[in-house]
Amino acid sequence: MPKPVLTCVLYHHIRDDPGPFLKHLNITTSPDVLHDHIEYYLENYDVVDVDTIISGELPPKPLLVTFDDSFRSTLEIAAPLMKKHDVPGVVFLNPEMITERAFCLDNLMSYLVSEHGPDALASILSENGAEQPTVGDYLANHVTRGTLQDRRNLKQRILDRLGCTETDLWEESALYLRPSDVKEFVTFGLEVGNHTASHVHCRTLKNSELSEEIGRSKHTLESLSGAEVRTFAFPYGNSKDATPAALGEIRQSGHSMIFLVHARSNRKRPAADIWYRISLTKENTDILYPKLRILPKIRSVLRGTH
Ligand SMILES: [Zn+2]
Repeated sequence: MPKPVLTCVLYHHIRDDPGPFLKHLNITTSPDVLHDHIEYYLENYDVVDVDTIISGELPPKPLLVTFDDSFRSTLEIAAPLMKKHDVPGVVFLNPEMITERAFCLDNLMSYLVSEHGPDALASILSENGAEQPTVGDYLANHVTRGTLQDRRNLKQRILDRLGCTETDLWEESALYLRPSDVKEFVTFGLEVGNHTASHVHCRTLKNSELSEEIGRSKHTLESLSGAEVRTFAFPYGNSKDATPAALGEIRQSGHSMIFLVHARSNRKRPAADIWYRISLTKENTDILYPKLRILPKIRSVLRGTH
């Protein structure tokens, strides 16, 4: 019998309409598509929870379902759907978006482009040129070069351009979970995981910031959920953020599973506690087989890690 290999899937915002805060991020999944995917998993996989993975006793075709980014839609739409099908999973949350009524930079950038067009963002970032980068390109190539303070300054410049305060936008948008929502996940069979306090690229953090963003974030989420937080997912999922200092803080603060987002097979992983996840949005179920089974294996072979 070959050893079972865990497949991990990842969703973000679950709505029919992405709305201005998500429109330029391409991470919105409609409830109907999520429903189809869940039925596909029930037919083709053994859906598992964190306890089963940690026990090491995996069923033949194990699959873990996860959600990132603290959106209210995770509780309002995804959680009841998961519960209805008796499917467990993990939701990776950011305490700043929940307890401090902060706005994630990604959503602010999308909103600015929705309201004022791509040039408004380009001018704030002082980037010009013939190419028209996407919000995702700016996050990956511009924001990763700055410090945490640069990131906060950028958020403030966007808010100034929009002419609104972060708190007002948080209230009006109803985008993120409220503090009392967090403990509700357990009643739907979903475990709460850590996604950093402010949804930041960990490579940009100093040591003191790493302990705020990772260790303290874990404690806040434990207070809100009333349960132990055992899992950590890197925002943006890039292995460049899994620096020795970040991994040290994650492990030392007591996380047992660490997640990246790369569509690679978990047959061979960088460490026993690190797992790859595959991000999904609006795929037809016909392409889930190649996307989840075939392509990750090919990528692993090409990288020589198979
Ligand atoms: Zn995220």
